[in-house]
Amino acid sequence: MATALTIDDIRSSIAERRTTAGALAEDFYSRIRKKDPEIGAFLTLCEERALAQAARIDAMAADGKPLPPLAGVPIAIKDVIVTSGVRTTAGSKILDNFIPPYDCTAVARLETAGAVILGKLNCDEFAMGSSTENSAYHPVRNPRDKSRVPGGSSGGSAAAVAAEMAVATLGSDTGGSIRQPASFCGVVGLKPTYGRVSRYGLIAFASSLDHVGPFANSVKDAALVLRTIAGRDPMDATSADVPVPDYVAELEKPVKGLKVGVAKEYFGSGLDDEVRAAVEAAIQKLAELGCEIVPVSLPHTEYAIPTYYIVATAEASANLARYDGVRYGFRAKSSALSQMYRQTRDGGFGMEVKRRIMLGTYALSAGYYDAYYLKAQKVRTLLTRDFEEAFTRVDVIAAPTAPTVAFKLGEKVNDPLAMYLADIYTVTANLAGIPGISVPCGENHEKLPIGLQIFGRHFDEATVLRVAHAYEGGAVRS
Ligand code: GLN
Repeated sequence: MATALTIDDIRSSIAERRTTAGALAEDFYSRIRKKDPEIGAFLTLCEERALAQAARIDAMAADGKPLPPLAGVPIAIKDVIVTSGVRTTAGSKILDNFIPPYDCTAVARLETAGAVILGKLNCDEFAMGSSTENSAYHPVRNPRDKSRVPGGSSGGSAAAVAAEMAVATLGSDTGGSIRQPASFCGVVGLKPTYGRVSRYGLIAFASSLDHVGPFANSVKDAALVLRTIAGRDPMDATSADVPVPDYVAELEKPVKGLKVGVAKEYFGSGLDDEVRAAVEAAIQKLAELGCEIVPVSLPHTEYAIPTYYIVATAEASANLARYDGVRYGFRAKSSALSQMYRQTRDGGFGMEVKRRIMLGTYALSAGYYDAYYLKAQKVRTLLTRDFEEAFTRVDVIAAPTAPTVAFKLGEKVNDPLAMYLADIYTVTANLAGIPGISVPCGENHEKLPIGLQIFGRHFDEATVLRVAHAYEGGAVRS
């Protein structure tokens, strides 16, 4: 395929009976069978469920009934998002045999809107990582260059869209895990505002930082998926009761006169020269589209990575306490209970997860709590205030998504600090809870994709999407 299918293409070709949802699903499964052995994006396929849903859509089309907005659209789901009756592992051995008894709200909403769920996507274990090499199953390879990582932790979600094995996917973003892999694979990835999309059914990593969001080939498709999954959910007390705008209609509003902030803190040392040049050219294009470019300052940015790794690990250490071999998944065989707990966790969790549990437990322990956790929470407030202050003067902020293009498999696995720095430009939006998108903005000399990141005010995904759509020129990736 020269040009990736869009959601609108699919819906209209089903409505006009040029194809069927069933035939389309079969097409995607055959592409997955052909391509995925080399890429490794999928962990589980759910063909029965997908074909049953496709049959429902085809029956509606045959009866001439109006089709729902995502009718027949093949979508795949990161494996930290639970699916009723379909194995959900979180990329971990500890959940190897876990079959959830319910659907995540976002998945239920997608299916109600007509989407066909193809299967579950590989990721770093419990979404901890930046390369998808921490999956307990197998790494994912970047479809643009198979010797490179797809980014992470939602590497399977980004790779599946990039390789046209799904039209859109869901990922999760705790510190950059949607935007950074979108940037590495050359697709669109959106992290919404905290509270915009329900987390009910998202396996918790760090609850105050976790978000569910879409990957797609175009900004418009990301807007269509967001419109479907956003909004208050009685099952998640942190989901916000804020009206959901029609993100698709909002895309067409002009961007002329919008103020785009540029912060020097996002262009400092460590930023690759070719990435810098591509992002600067993208900002120049926004100026040509009539946006006003305004310098802003986000002075606490340098503290973002250490702050994130205290808050995220502290919350993870509490959230992961539930995996004790009693309630979920894997259980080590042992005659004594305390030994069973210990052996289950020792055998079930991988190295990175153990490292995070230890770090988080340490940061929360008596004597260190004030020095680390409390201090980190204070710095988090300062980082949030940086954005609040900047957004009194600008409508959006433009920055690189990641400091580099996709790196080689194995390049950073033995250097956790280098791996953590892959998220230097993305963790701030999670700490502040603001929305952020990554949209492709060119390639380096090796044809590896580069991402432009756009941040917005809380609950102003509409403006973020509008600026990204204007930049993209309304065209889908070819
Ligand atoms: N790479 C970051 C981490 O390892 C972010 C992961 C994420 O957003 N889930 O924690």
